[in-house]
Amino acid sequence: MLNMPRRSVAGIAAIVIACVAVAQTKPAAETPAAPTVVITGANRGLGLAFARRLSADGYRVIGTARRPDAADELRSLGVRVEQLDVTDAASVRRLAEAIGDAPVDILINNAGIGSRARALEDFDVDDAERIMQVNYLGPMRVTQALLPALRKGDRKLIVNITSTYGSIERNTRGGAYGYRESKAALNMFTRSLAAELKPHGFTCIALSPGWVKTDMGGPNARLTPDESIDAMIKVIESLSAEHSGSFLNHAGDAVPW
Ligand code: NDP
Repeated sequence: MLNMPRRSVAGIAAIVIACVAVAQTKPAAETPAAPTVVITGANRGLGLAFARRLSADGYRVIGTARRPDAADELRSLGVRVEQLDVTDAASVRRLAEAIGDAPVDILINNAGIGSRARALEDFDVDDAERIMQVNYLGPMRVTQALLPALRKGDRKLIVNITSTYGSIERNTRGGAYGYRESKAALNMFTRSLAAELKPHGFTCIALSPGWVKTDMGGPNARLTPDESIDAMIKVIESLSAEHSGSFLNHAGDAVPW
């Protein structure tokens, strides 16, 4: 470089300046927009960890909370926060209206509630109705309302956060009444959705996060939220249309239905 004739150096400089100018005048339309992801139940637990990680990775995150005013950690991420109770049709409709004509690339139906009932006699059957409302009808309601926005998105990806407790084949211990049934119903919903939407370029999966240290998973769980999220994001980012209709765990392995 030191021995280069002066004209060559000037020529290279001109090319560099021209390249920088071209890069700076590149029309905005050619720069791909960051994908938009909607995460339900994003104020704590896995939903919050999803929001933190995906916003750090450059996604446009819309995190929902039943009480946005109390969702301090979620708001501190600088993401967009919307009110959503998945059991309330009016609340779901307001979310869809707030999103309006904007595309949504990925929907993560994460909000859920558990059940500690081990024996049927300890279980209040009315609780099953409540659990079904949140874990099964909630994702159905939210997905239906956001479908127009998802159709406009590039990724067309719907991730229903399920549980291996929803596997009929794996259920040898029983218990968790209401919860197991709700996740089995969510799995069947995922399968139907995948079949209906596959011709339209959608990928719909049921994804189990593993046993995770959250309010639901408890302190003895195997994974931290970040470990579970890291693994699930690897799975999500590797998905293609052929995976649609799958029931996967956080490691990306198929779980028997
Ligand atoms: P948490 O209990 O920590 O968080 C649950 C989230 O769901 C909260 O944000 C809660 O909001 C929200 N939520 C509850 N009810 C509603 C509702 N009616 N409308 C909207 N949001 C609601 O649970 P996790 O983070 O551990 O669980 C997330 C998902 O992962 C669930 O679907 C769960 O079934 C699944 N899962 C978790 C496992 C684990 O080991 N943790 C294992 C297998 C599956 P609020 O704060 O207002 O209550």
